[in-house]
Amino acid sequence: MIKVIEMLAPAGHKCRSGRKLTGFRGVTIHNTGNAGRGADALAHARYLQGGGKDTAASWHYCVDEHRATRSIPESEAAWHAGDGGEPGNMQTVAIEICMNADGDLRKATENAAVLAADILARHGIRNAEGHLYQHHDWSGKDCPQMIRAGRPCNWPAFCGKVQGYLDGKEKDMTEAEAEKIIQEACGFEDQTIQFLKAYRYHEALLTKLAAAIQKGGAL
Ligand SMILES: [Zn+2]
Repeated sequence: MIKVIEMLAPAGHKCRSGRKLTGFRGVTIHNTGNAGRGADALAHARYLQGGGKDTAASWHYCVDEHRATRSIPESEAAWHAGDGGEPGNMQTVAIEICMNADGDLRKATENAAVLAADILARHGIRNAEGHLYQHHDWSGKDCPQMIRAGRPCNWPAFCGKVQGYLDGKEKDMTEAEAEKIIQEACGFEDQTIQFLKAYRYHEALLTKLAAAIQKGGAL
């Protein structure tokens, strides 16, 4: 996981909607549109704490080659999608990818893929398909402008990176986590789980079952 620095924009100002997300559809990807030197994640977070706090434009995360900054709590809507509130603003979490001239676009984009996978996994989503959006999907704006221009990779490649990180998380799942996921999904008694564990058709049986549940597959 990349380092996330909490730098929340001050509540009560226009950049903070103060409204809870009405659901979770996934993650909306942006490029900052700012190629200026020094326009990194810290600079963008500071902007929302200062000069930008009274403008109705905001994002949850901004990512550069070193870190992510969080400006809006994940459970609160940010004003990033330009769709008038539904569902881009009200049901997705925004990641801005830095494109400053003195930054490393490739690394920043990779970090954004890691963060997107983390957000999706925390919402129980293991198959990224249908849960990754471009700003363009909501408002028609040419954003994320760098990815849309194939820099450092095109959209399908970016989505593939996110899926790759989600697949990696499956391998990291512990047996205890797998048990919890299976019990919640299937309502199995402890005894049944013990039976499954004892069955040991394959070392990773529980992990594979849990991953199948999270991908929406049938048992
Ligand atoms: Zn955008």
